[in-house]
Amino acid sequence: MTATESPQQVVIIGSGPAGLTAAVYAARANLEPLLVEGVVEGGPTGGQLTLTTEVENYPGFADGIMGPELILQMRAQAERFGTRFVTEDVVKANLDQRPFTLETASGSTIETNALIVATGAKPRRLEIPGEDELWGAGVSACATCDGFFFRDKHVVVVGGGDSAMEEAMFLTKFASKVTVVHRRDALRASQIMQDRALANDKIEFVWNAIPIEVNGADGVVTSLTLKDTQTGEVSDLPADGLFLAIGHIPNTWLFDGTLDTDDEGYLIVDEPSTHTNVPGVFACGDVMDHNYRQAVTAAGTGCRAAIDAERWLASEGIG
Ligand code: NAP
Repeated sequence: MTATESPQQVVIIGSGPAGLTAAVYAARANLEPLLVEGVVEGGPTGGQLTLTTEVENYPGFADGIMGPELILQMRAQAERFGTRFVTEDVVKANLDQRPFTLETASGSTIETNALIVATGAKPRRLEIPGEDELWGAGVSACATCDGFFFRDKHVVVVGGGDSAMEEAMFLTKFASKVTVVHRRDALRASQIMQDRALANDKIEFVWNAIPIEVNGADGVVTSLTLKDTQTGEVSDLPADGLFLAIGHIPNTWLFDGTLDTDDEGYLIVDEPSTHTNVPGVFACGDVMDHNYRQAVTAAGTGCRAAIDAERWLASEGIG
């Protein structure tokens, strides 16, 4: 795409449940939305749901649905009502004047009257020695992607939330043993996920510990150095793989200095609306939600962002 002659009415950045739901609503409001979706391995990203397995808690799917399939369905629904897609990373956003301007990785520019930011969040890293060096060689943040490589091996999952429990349980399909290392002695995960993980014979727990180094030999992970968070004692835990499930960091770097963020880096919206501090820019999904972070709540905020954008455009006389 080259520079648009007349600005788009609304552009959505991000193709997870928030962005795609915003697209469905904006398309049905005749705003002809353009959705810019990031690229991974030559295809659209689809957000974190494409990295998960079965989604059991999205309403309407009594028997559950696979995460990637749910995203494909949402995308098809958005397309059916006229959403157009650009599969390219946005590398720059100028929100200083209207219409807003976005620059994509290929150097194209897109102008838009309203912008919906649905850029999601990315997995948090431990930032310890060995983590970067052994990334992809035993260290991962996606059991669904990499679990297969650990058949009959011992893997460690770090974290105590729902993601850690989900990753640990998924990994038991392949690994001979899964050890969950958690920095406290109580899990953060929901009760049902805790119960399932604690009842799984293949899962062991190491409480009150954090990895402080990933050790490897010949380019693969061999062990983790753990530190007891209570006593400071250091120990070595032999392991073939390390899966990180320690939360996420919102993807906001495009808007550094323009959109307001809270202490944890999430975009601030004027609750209960999705208006950011820049009129005409709306935020939805995990990039603005550090509280619920569910597919269904992301979809809900996507709906709100599209309705807010529609009303704002109308109030400006450009809808
Ligand atoms: P989370 O709930 O924020 O949990 C992150 C975990 O990592 C916490 O246990 C935290 O410890 C630990 N942690 C954070 N930083 C750490 C560090 N530097 N070193 C060691 N441990 C660290 O994140 P999440 O599990 O990714 O879940 C995010 C959201 O998605 C939640 O709302 C969750 O319910 C949802 N989710 C739902 C499902 C499902 O329903 N099937 C599946 C996955 C995720 P502390 O507990 O000590 O803070």
